[in-house]
Amino acid sequence: MILFRFLMMMAQALADPATASSHHAMVLVRGDGFRPEFREVELQGLNSDQRFDGKYFKIVKGVDEVPILLNDPDPELRLKAGTVYYHLSLARQFWVQHLSSEFVRSLPTLVIRLEMPRAFSDLAHYQHEGVAPEYNNALSIPHGVPMDGVGVEPWGNEIWFRPKKQILTRDLPESGLSGSGNPLSAYLQALTKPIQESVVSRLIQLTLQQWFYPATRTTPYRNQVLWQVGTLAVGTLLLKGSRYLDSLFLEKYYYLDTAMIPEIIYHEFAHIALSDHLKLTLSTPMLEGLADYFATAVSGNPEIASNIRQYSLSMPKNGRNPVRYDPAFETLYYSNSDFVLSTLWRVRDLFPERADLLILTASQRLSTARSDIRHDLIRALLEACRDSCAAPRADRLRLMQSFVEKGF
Ligand SMILES: [Zn+2]
Repeated sequence: MILFRFLMMMAQALADPATASSHHAMVLVRGDGFRPEFREVELQGLNSDQRFDGKYFKIVKGVDEVPILLNDPDPELRLKAGTVYYHLSLARQFWVQHLSSEFVRSLPTLVIRLEMPRAFSDLAHYQHEGVAPEYNNALSIPHGVPMDGVGVEPWGNEIWFRPKKQILTRDLPESGLSGSGNPLSAYLQALTKPIQESVVSRLIQLTLQQWFYPATRTTPYRNQVLWQVGTLAVGTLLLKGSRYLDSLFLEKYYYLDTAMIPEIIYHEFAHIALSDHLKLTLSTPMLEGLADYFATAVSGNPEIASNIRQYSLSMPKNGRNPVRYDPAFETLYYSNSDFVLSTLWRVRDLFPERADLLILTASQRLSTARSDIRHDLIRALLEACRDSCAAPRADRLRLMQSFVEKGF
């Protein structure tokens, strides 16, 4: 009987063409002290022993539909494809296992485009070659159906990583500090002008502000920016992890290879994972803050956590005064997602075991276009706690106390 079962199992295994294969690949991971290092890992869930063609992720180059070869002759492309595949698999595992997300479990295979310079088009998937190519960022693409007569197939959710491109920092516009209006606002706008339309993620954008304008480090506005903008905590660490943390280089050029930064990969996947209720139609500080929260949760990196904590508490100098809510935080360029990120990290400090699920549950009460931070996010967190906290009454009081400290 046992032998018979064994023979049946063998026969099934041999007959099953869908048996997933694995492949050893060199990828970039975080080592000690957040330093990037190359490591050989096993990529799992591949449908093919030839290509980056997985059960959950298919990695292609640009507008290609055929996945990249596992032994592609371009070592940099191979490394990027492996790195993206590996970190997306980790992110998916976090959402499926840790957060029990049915939506993520049932997602169809995502197409991941590396070196994709085309602008997105919701009528035709992407623009013609040469129409305002985009560089140095990453974005999540909502599924869509082409306009009649365009002649492309409907597409599913995708993640695009732009090619990196060197820009001479001296070609970037001046800071605009002498302009009228709120100096901080003018400053941030001028700083981000070359990228603000294309860079969706504040996490990425603020990283760039910090680094491609090294002069900001000496302006009196820097502290003000730091005070408003917690993310430099994350941003600084991100670049510490990229290959380009070379201050001499950064004085001259700026570029960002988003496919080689694990936290950006997790951030983009979080947008997809939340997209059943938070549509990928526009970027708001609340949405970016949520994606940043889950990106840092997936990374599980204690250095990021302590940096966020430190920034959310460290200014002014007495070290106890948290960055407090300001209505301007609701708008995109004056403020940012970092306030949301640091607010959510305080929830995590209060409920280390349950915060991830609590925040996911709260996010399901929110909408991309209509929800704000002050009313909707806070209320959603309190309601989620009422329904799922271990001691709803006492836990909600603790939450409220923490929100009051943040100026709500
Ligand atoms: Zn984003």
